Amino acid sequence: TLPISSNFIRNIIDEDNRTGKWNGRVETRFPPEPNGYLHIGHAKSICLNFGLARDYDGVCHLRFDDTNPEKEAQEYVDAICDSVKWLGFDWGKHIYYASDYFEKLYEFAEYLITKGQAYIDSQSAEEIRQLRGSLIQPGQNSPYRDRPAAESLDLFRRMRAGEFPDGTHVLRAKIDMTSPNINMRDPVIYRIRHIHHQRTGDKWCIYPMYDFTHCISDALEQITHSLCTLEFEDHRPLYDWVLDQLVERIPCHPQQIEFARLNLTYCVMSKRKLIELVEGHFVEGWDDPRMNTLAGLRRRGYTPASIRLFTERIGISKADSWIDMTVLEDCLREDLNEHALRRIGILKPLKLVIDNFTEGREEECYAPNHPQKPEWGKRVLPLTKTVYIEQDDFMEIPSKGYFRLSPGAEVRLRYAYLIKCVSVVKNDQGEIEEIHCVYDPATKSGTAGAEIRKVKGNIHWLSARHAQPTEIRVYDRLFNHPHPDTGDKDFKSYLNPHSKQIITALVEPSLLDAQTEQCFQFERHGYFAADRIETKPGKPVFNRAVTLRDTWGK
Ligand code: ATP
Ligand code: MG
Ligand code: MG
Repeated sequence: TLPISSNFIRNIIDEDNRTGKWNGRVETRFPPEPNGYLHIGHAKSICLNFGLARDYDGVCHLRFDDTNPEKEAQEYVDAICDSVKWLGFDWGKHIYYASDYFEKLYEFAEYLITKGQAYIDSQSAEEIRQLRGSLIQPGQNSPYRDRPAAESLDLFRRMRAGEFPDGTHVLRAKIDMTSPNINMRDPVIYRIRHIHHQRTGDKWCIYPMYDFTHCISDALEQITHSLCTLEFEDHRPLYDWVLDQLVERIPCHPQQIEFARLNLTYCVMSKRKLIELVEGHFVEGWDDPRMNTLAGLRRRGYTPASIRLFTERIGISKADSWIDMTVLEDCLREDLNEHALRRIGILKPLKLVIDNFTEGREEECYAPNHPQKPEWGKRVLPLTKTVYIEQDDFMEIPSKGYFRLSPGAEVRLRYAYLIKCVSVVKNDQGEIEEIHCVYDPATKSGTAGAEIRKVKGNIHWLSARHAQPTEIRVYDRLFNHPHPDTGDKDFKSYLNPHSKQIITALVEPSLLDAQTEQCFQFERHGYFAADRIETKPGKPVFNRAVTLRDTWGK
């Protein structure tokens, strides 16, 4: 469990509880539109809403805001449910669909018409837009604004009955065309769309707009605190206006509270752009490990705890800001540093022969499963005459400050012996094929002789006979620009061409039994997760989730 830091929303709830405004009730909701997969921005909202419900003994609803059938699909509903569950939250029986309120919303619309607070406008969309005015120019009344209520009611019923094609009429709230807030200039609250809905089928050919649907859904579900991002601040007067008109018909008037959305560097945070990446095959799907969708982060190796830690760490405020990607990566490092088993993986193998080690001999060396957790025990690393090390751990002509292996230099084979490089074997092209060393039998790690000589280099290795070739996807950031969707060019021109590299690495034999989604620290490299889709029994595929340290740009 995480320490809970206070924020302005918690202060509002504390005050409401003190005054008894909601009789101590706290009811929130997470209201995604099922028009794509959830992204890391949504995680902020999920952790906020479900977190408040948890901490105040309240409930949080999962509500699908499904009023836009052309862009919505059951696949997205299922994916959203999966991601919320995966993050560790449970809506219990509180799953709702705005489409379940279509009948109620329709009745409320008729009620507004009857009261003279809504009217059918028969102008085209373009005409409506023109009369709406702008920030500096007040709007003008529609010629249909004073249409008698009975006529509007008749037209509205015929709209529902399917008598009119798309775009011929809309229902508008009658508020104030001169309001400085454009959202209050007689907003459209219903439109005609002859389109199949994934849940209501062909029952409806008119659909309510977001601003009308959302506040009523909140009220019907008796939400107490309706939390949304800052873009909706200007919609709050409309939220309140609609509920004020319906005061006699609804059980309560929830409070809309806005908070700053998450902006994360090297990410795009809009479903529309994420869809473009999927449909244009710039990535391999919504759950591509490079995507900042929750499904993608999960596949990459992010843990639910790391994402919850991240949302807690960035906090909740009223001011928009950018969060650096390293903050998210550090949260994963923190979580996995504590929870991941240590293993060895050699990403770019180089053969090393220990000349004075008897052929066929196998010596057990012991490596801790976690350096800070002796209770996790040790595993055996067999040492044999031929081992593999990383290519990067050898330099024929060492640069200044290079403390790893080079001709004549001495390093420690981690958990084993000091070795000294005595010769290098090259092929006809002059490339290094193998290196030869001698080891000092008096220097085994964990014995008194280990400290005979201090060396700076301490490199990892695997016995050639035991090492298992395994596929590893080395991922890097999807974009090479920190603000891909605010640059001068199309966001796709900032895609990082080196964001995915497939290699065959060598790993410890025990890693062949990795379970899907199990994460390991490959010593000195970073954290790697067994891909949840492509890992098969005895044949893992690993995704590099994050490097050990922040190496971006270095
Ligand atoms: P998109 O533009 O990607 O479609 P959206 O806001 O339209 O995002 P919804 O499905 O409507 O997506 O969002 C559900 C909830 O998630 C909303 O309450 C919204 O405020 C919240 N949310 C979406 N993006 C972010 C973000 N970047 N940071 C915090 N909350 C977010
Ligand atoms: Mg939306
Ligand atoms: Mg949106």
